[in-house]
Amino acid sequence: MENALAVLLFIMLPLGLIVLWAARSSGYLRKAPTLLPEQRRTIAKYVMAYQRLSSKDQQRFEAIVSRFLHEKDWQGAGVEVKEEMKLMVSACAAQLLMGHPDVVLKHFERIVIYPDTYRSGRSGRMHQGEVRPTSGVIMISWRDLLHGYAHTRDAHNVGLHEMAHALWFEDRISNAEQGFLHPELLQDWIDQADGEIERIRSGGSSLFRSYAGTNQAEFFAVAVEYFFEKAEAFQKELPELYRVLSAMLKQDPARDQRPAGN
Ligand SMILES: [Zn+2]
Repeated sequence: MENALAVLLFIMLPLGLIVLWAARSSGYLRKAPTLLPEQRRTIAKYVMAYQRLSSKDQQRFEAIVSRFLHEKDWQGAGVEVKEEMKLMVSACAAQLLMGHPDVVLKHFERIVIYPDTYRSGRSGRMHQGEVRPTSGVIMISWRDLLHGYAHTRDAHNVGLHEMAHALWFEDRISNAEQGFLHPELLQDWIDQADGEIERIRSGGSSLFRSYAGTNQAEFFAVAVEYFFEKAEAFQKELPELYRVLSAMLKQDPARDQRPAGN
């Protein structure tokens, strides 16, 4: 009897957990509804990052969009939330989460969309977006989000910026998604970022705009904007930092954006 119990505990239980983990990782246990053709067309029309993907990766992108879109509670602040708004905000999340398709930024249950920049009740200043980890809310200005998508090479994309903040918190918040960023890579990132933040504050040359010198969280969010919109310059100027971010997010936009054959 004791032997049977030991077999159960030491062999069957770990085996069961491995099978469950494998099924979950492969997406077998969680299928989000696929996007409708018109939803797919909206994304294909506006999101350059999606246009460049192989058809297999486009399917993964769509699955992340679909899950994000269906799992979040959407609210408008002075604007009616339209389908395309949900799609485009979800596409920001998908772009960032392509390497972590099982992560849906679970803690952030509510997305609040403003028509334009808005005065934040918290800071009293005008904002294009905010992430509030205490209430699990991501706020975003629709006009600024669209502006970010219309200019894909200026390293200004408020959608990616706010999603990067959410991802940064999500990795630390105690829930099922905690710790999805590789801890050693994350530590490497923090160490390198300390040096870069110092350089920015002292007026030393840096690729990133000066706002990145605010603190670690802003540094990460700004770096993500450069990662996707100025990938080659980022890789050229700050190769070690680029390598670590690329490994953390499991993506390499500098490679993906290079013309074929180079
Ligand atoms: Zn920020």
